[in-house]
Amino acid sequence: MRILVVEDELKVANALREGLEGERYDVVVERTGEGAFFRVTTEPFDAILLDLTLPGRDGLEILKAMRERGIKTPVLVLTARDTLQDRVRGLDTGADDYLIKPFAFAELLARVRALVRRGRGAESPRLAAADLEMNLITRKVTRGGRAIDLTVREFELLEYLLRHQGQVVSRETLARDVWKETARTTPLDNVIDVHIARLRRKVDAEQSARLIHTVRGVGFMLHEGEP
Ligand code: CA
Repeated sequence: MRILVVEDELKVANALREGLEGERYDVVVERTGEGAFFRVTTEPFDAILLDLTLPGRDGLEILKAMRERGIKTPVLVLTARDTLQDRVRGLDTGADDYLIKPFAFAELLARVRALVRRGRGAESPRLAAADLEMNLITRKVTRGGRAIDLTVREFELLEYLLRHQGQVVSRETLARDVWKETARTTPLDNVIDVHIARLRRKVDAEQSARLIHTVRGVGFMLHEGEP
């Protein structure tokens, strides 16, 4: 499996290269948009990890240009949270998935595997449980076809629960992976509980089947049916 990593920060690029090579992927690194575009138009790859903020032509321009050329290689966009919010509509032009920096390498690997598995000509990526659906690119969430309006944080929380459905997720895990708070002295438990409660009202209210469950003393679980 050949992976193109497009990342201008040398440290990040090297870390990605080492990690992916450790998993026996062949890795090519490009540090500019121009270089990346030349590569993808001349060599085949199984997946592309694309940083959005690049010197010269940025990631989004490259992505658009690639898709216009008919190149369907799956693309995982790597981006800072603020950049993502600015550009989420732009991502509609052809990203298959995205990961917000900073991310855990294990999470990146899982996404890369899914991307490669999904292969060429992939549809817009979506997560689902029962009649709950989430489109990761348009950021639309529906339950039974009815649109649910979520804040950015609620969306991220629900996305995390959907990606880990059937697993118990602790408050500590949510603080680390969704809130990205690792250096706090006071726990985020109350904040998390408030968000879970709001999410529940939006997702589960007036539904016969609840999806978001509390696992007493441990955390939460998104699951079809009682956990
Ligand atoms: Ca960058």
